[in-house]
Amino acid sequence: MSEADPELKVKAQRVYDLLIQEYGAPEWRPRRSGFEQLIHTILSANTNDRNAAAAFETLKQSYDGDWDAVRAAPLDDIKEAIRVAGMYNQKAPHIVETLEILHREEGRYSLEHIRAMPPADAQTYLQRFPGVGHKTASIVLLFSYGMPAFPVDTHVQRLTQRLGISGRRAAAQKIKAVWEQLLPPETFFTLHVNQIQHGRTVCKARNPRCAVCVLHASCDYHARRGDWAPDPS
Ligand code: SF4
Repeated sequence: MSEADPELKVKAQRVYDLLIQEYGAPEWRPRRSGFEQLIHTILSANTNDRNAAAAFETLKQSYDGDWDAVRAAPLDDIKEAIRVAGMYNQKAPHIVETLEILHREEGRYSLEHIRAMPPADAQTYLQRFPGVGHKTASIVLLFSYGMPAFPVDTHVQRLTQRLGISGRRAAAQKIKAVWEQLLPPETFFTLHVNQIQHGRTVCKARNPRCAVCVLHASCDYHARRGDWAPDPS
């Protein structure tokens, strides 16, 4: 990848600093094992955190935390257990297939072996699992292992496009690469968490609250409001 634009680096650092002033620096603390984070993240596709967490807990409790039992269970029973997360017709087989791969290849339901992998290899490895794209893989790497991967969800994507840190129609994968090039790995967790907070509360999809936004002086969208249309990049 080519060297990052120095001006864009300065802008990225300013955005990072301003978001910390606004929201603080969240403490990185793994909440789940990598394996449990993977299952949870599969459940979180196209739903909110609360529903994903509820589905995860119901699934665990339904089988007393016995993942062998989940693997062997009728698919319809798993669908019922995770119903609250939606898309259960896709998510249930993805979970079972994930369990089958780990059981077959590792003999246990664990991802601890990825700790020894270079981050790029760990990312590629995780994306072999069904339904796991760059966002899910990055969440597992960053949240459970503190590895340098920057997850891009819809909030991060929208904010990055509006700020002009990426092109206005840049894909999530491109935006991941942009941030990973602009800022050092130790910023990724704080940057990700604060961008999501900002996207949910201020830089909303429909009505961004630019008048109260700490980033407005660094924002292309704000500067060109009324003249802000998607570009082809
Ligand atoms: S100024 Fe407006 S568009 Fe720009 S980041 Fe803030 S809320 Fe979003």
